[in-house]
Amino acid sequence: MRCPICAYEDTRVLDSRPTEDDQAIRRRRECPTCLHRFTTYERIEQGPLVVVKKDGRREVFDRQKVLKGVLTALQKRPIPLAKAEEMVAALERDLRQGGGGEVPSAAIGERVMDSLRQIDQVAYIRFASVYRAFEHPGGFREMLEHLEGDSEDEGRDL
Ligand SMILES: [Zn+2]
Repeated sequence: MRCPICAYEDTRVLDSRPTEDDQAIRRRRECPTCLHRFTTYERIEQGPLVVVKKDGRREVFDRQKVLKGVLTALQKRPIPLAKAEEMVAALERDLRQGGGGEVPSAAIGERVMDSLRQIDQVAYIRFASVYRAFEHPGGFREMLEHLEGDSEDEGRDL
């Protein structure tokens, strides 16, 4: 890596460690000529994640769009923005690990619902009601029954 100050080509790596989220390697470097120190980040270059809609149309996964939907569901709920951002980042990581670079749009909706459910029940119901109404009308009641069934399960486990 070339020194940004004197352009000397063979800078030394002083320290190398993963970033907090484990998505990159952070390197402290020093130029042996001018002693300038600087930091570089090494990341995996990711291709676009492609969303396949029900009708077969494809569009590039848009993290901001998903976050917007999540934040709408979380409106006036006591959940910090950072938590929502973290949730969407984790979701994207999982979707990418699914492989192939393509993911059905329905899988994203389902994943968002799963995640919201763990964070905030009210937001979960808000999101699910909008999502289910769109995906298949009539599914909302089914979803509520499913939710009640789950609470019973948890009770039994305790
Ligand atoms: Zn230098």
